[in-house]
Amino acid sequence: MTVRAGIPRGMYYYKYYPFIRSFLTELGAEVVPSPETTKEILDKGVLYSIDDACLPVKVLHGHAYSLRDKVDCILIPRLTSVSKGEYICPKFGGLPEMVKYSVPDLPPVIDTEVNLKKNRNSLMKAMYKIAFTLKFRNPARISKSIKTALKAHEGFKASVHEGNTPDSVIEGIPGRTHKAKARIGLIGHPYLLYDSFVNMNLIKKLRERDIEVITPDMIDPHIVNEHCMELPKRMYWSSGKSLIGSALFIMDNSAFNGMLILTAFGCGIDSLAGEYIDKQARRYYKKPYMVLNIDEHTGDAGFNTRLEAFFDLLNCNLFDTKI
Ligand code: SF4
Repeated sequence: MTVRAGIPRGMYYYKYYPFIRSFLTELGAEVVPSPETTKEILDKGVLYSIDDACLPVKVLHGHAYSLRDKVDCILIPRLTSVSKGEYICPKFGGLPEMVKYSVPDLPPVIDTEVNLKKNRNSLMKAMYKIAFTLKFRNPARISKSIKTALKAHEGFKASVHEGNTPDSVIEGIPGRTHKAKARIGLIGHPYLLYDSFVNMNLIKKLRERDIEVITPDMIDPHIVNEHCMELPKRMYWSSGKSLIGSALFIMDNSAFNGMLILTAFGCGIDSLAGEYIDKQARRYYKKPYMVLNIDEHTGDAGFNTRLEAFFDLLNCNLFDTKI
């Protein structure tokens, strides 16, 4: 019987789903992603996670819960480090335990670690371990599946660099083609930017005003790294580095008309990275700029009011065309 492997639609999903989907499908497993976030999923996440977890961690608990009776196992790998010399965020390291011991009635959770800081071959080892856990034991087939997955990952990243959001690439929905009236940088973690329930359709609302949105995932990592060299100390949190490098690039670039920062209440990384960006923007950035903070209680009305204020700021800066 084909094994059904569940993938929660949260956290690493918007970075690595095409990779893991190709790998498991090529091996012969059936891949079952959880549905898009809903109020019920969020409520279950809030119910089953600890109070001081950040919003994305709570959402992931809800997604794991939604898969509990649909799959034979759930993949929640322990992503300790995915870039040489860097860590992602401590919450990613503890995620498998948080979910396993908080959400009831789950099938086995596959929590294989990926730690590139400790071992450069960690990813390969992890893929073999996952395959063996799922009872696929043919080394040639595993190796072929890894190659297919890496190719899918490269194709996914290339499409995102062209300006398509990861969720639209995953779903195979074509990106926008017509010319925008303004371009802004939208800074935030992928699981905030691309989960339209969590962010109350932020990207859609911006695009409806003919605003082109550039997110950190669409910016060349070399450019991000270059801009992080300006920092007085090396940033060793990958997620914080991506935010800071992208924001500094946008602030330096005359092709952008403004910048929005989307942060989650309770995010430890944002309390450092977001604070740094905010200070730099207040000191040096002369274009429209705003921080939007969300948690599980954020309502559409307050959020839209803030957004309207940002549109007003943009309009004041666009003399010949209005959004
Ligand atoms: S980076 Fe922030 S939002 Fe993301 S998992 Fe860590 S604490 Fe949560």
